Amino acid sequence: MSKTLFEKICDREIPAEIVYEDELCVAFKDIHPQAPVHIQLVPRKPITMLSNAEPSDQSLLGHLLLTAPKIAAAQGYPDAFRLAVNNGAAVGQSVFHLHVHILAGRPFKWPPG
Ligand code: AMP
Repeated sequence: MSKTLFEKICDREIPAEIVYEDELCVAFKDIHPQAPVHIQLVPRKPITMLSNAEPSDQSLLGHLLLTAPKIAAAQGYPDAFRLAVNNGAAVGQSVFHLHVHILAGRPFKWPPG
């Protein structure tokens, strides 16, 4: 199976501004930022979308949620950031490799549009 765009970024086959990585995940700046801080946090494992994650992915998913605040803090926003996961094309998912949007640095409305 061919690699996803985000796998290629993880494997450094496509350039990106990587801000964090460990054995399970990679975080890089979004190419079209929607906020002063807009980072994609992706598992190295190419899960297509959250609804396709399996019980065996539990610790990986937990790792993503525990890592996101550290990345936000490193960007200067330890207690004011938003996480978003688009699950499916109908709600805006365009890259089918699970990713957590980390957004910070401006006011955010609720509910999101
Ligand atoms: P989504 O619409 O939830 O699937 O989000 C995909 C995100 O990936 C969008 O915010 C895009 O701007 C971002 N994106 C697409 N290609 C790249 C790339 N080569 N490097 C960094 N971010 C990207």
